Amino acid sequence: MSVETPDMDELLRLVPTATYGDGLPDHAAGGRGGALHLSAVLPALSAAIGHPTPTKVHTDPKACQDALGLPSVTSAIVVLVDGLGYWNLAMRLGHAPYLRSLMNETVNQRPITTCAPSTTVAAMAAFGTGTCPGLTGMAGYTQLEPASHKLIQLIQFKDALAPKPANPHIPVPPMIDPHSLQQEETVFEKLAAQGVRVTSSGLPKFAGSPLTEAALRGTDYQPNVTPRDRVLAAARAARQPGLTYLYIRDADKVGHNYGWDSENWVATFEHIDAQLALLHRSAPAGTLIVIVADHGMVQTDPDGRVDIAAEPELAQGVELVGGEPRSLMLYASPGESAEAIAGRWRDRLGDTALVRTRERAFAGGLFGPVADRVKPMIGDVIVQAAGAATFVDSRTQSDKATRLPSVHGSQTMLEMDIPCLIDLV
Ligand SMILES: [Zn+2]
Repeated sequence: MSVETPDMDELLRLVPTATYGDGLPDHAAGGRGGALHLSAVLPALSAAIGHPTPTKVHTDPKACQDALGLPSVTSAIVVLVDGLGYWNLAMRLGHAPYLRSLMNETVNQRPITTCAPSTTVAAMAAFGTGTCPGLTGMAGYTQLEPASHKLIQLIQFKDALAPKPANPHIPVPPMIDPHSLQQEETVFEKLAAQGVRVTSSGLPKFAGSPLTEAALRGTDYQPNVTPRDRVLAAARAARQPGLTYLYIRDADKVGHNYGWDSENWVATFEHIDAQLALLHRSAPAGTLIVIVADHGMVQTDPDGRVDIAAEPELAQGVELVGGEPRSLMLYASPGESAEAIAGRWRDRLGDTALVRTRERAFAGGLFGPVADRVKPMIGDVIVQAAGAATFVDSRTQSDKATRLPSVHGSQTMLEMDIPCLIDLV
């Protein structure tokens, strides 16, 4: 049995919003999510290593383990490959012998879903805490910081609209403390509090970074410069019982710079497959390896780029534009109604986007359960791109940022479906 990839039209269509839960979704009714969700992976792994750790969203880690099909072990490694969506992977399997061998297993021939928006900061926090953007308060590449009424960029936690610093090598101090924005305890913290070994293997520059502190805090972080050393550090850590986290960055980075269907991306994908194969060879027998991603990637259409700066009816009544080009959060000017903005955007964009007021998005469960403190961070209107469209703002975004060859953030199959590949070494 092999995986049949839907055609590109279907991959670029918006899919129903995934639910959060501990069981299997009702596939027959078009349901998505439940435990087949990125947020369920760490709760499921906690149960798999014998230390079931519930979260506010996943109260039954054992049920998550069963739904995801994870065997019980003493030591597990979870690998997060940034930007490696399930269908991106499936369409390039010929370049990846190790991943191909995993995809031949029936248990791996089903995608799980990431959170909405399908973007790194939101997904990392949902993954790390086993919850959802409505609870973590990490709901977009940029979002409103209500106390200062400024847009904050959640990779570095910096002022999104501040001019570029004179020296880009000097890190800008975060605008807000990562712990005060993201208040959910991470699964790593909860496991460590039970005396479980929790190791993270990653790049030196991400040790203690604002995003790591917010979304993935609580591990013994092992920094290494080369991908090979990071893989070997993870394999070494796995000799002791517990949980190891390994982060692989470059599929996303190269995808944004060159496009996910470029030769550069394929070369990167081949390297990633080689790293994962090395992990498989180096991990002790009996280790469970689980490979996931934070989102997939869509090739953009230059003709489908809509610039808010050039369209007065889109800019009208909008004070701030947050989110990202595939999933905008529009913040209304004082006195402007969200319904009026949503109406103008619907008229202009037609079926290239799903436009919803914040209340409609909350009612539809887009961000999962939403804490009161998070509500003011979310835009008044949420715009999710369909097809290969992007919605940019050349008044505040660099030209390069508005013309990336591959992007993500919206709710199409290509962006939402992610792997959860299981390899028992
Ligand atoms: Zn990205």
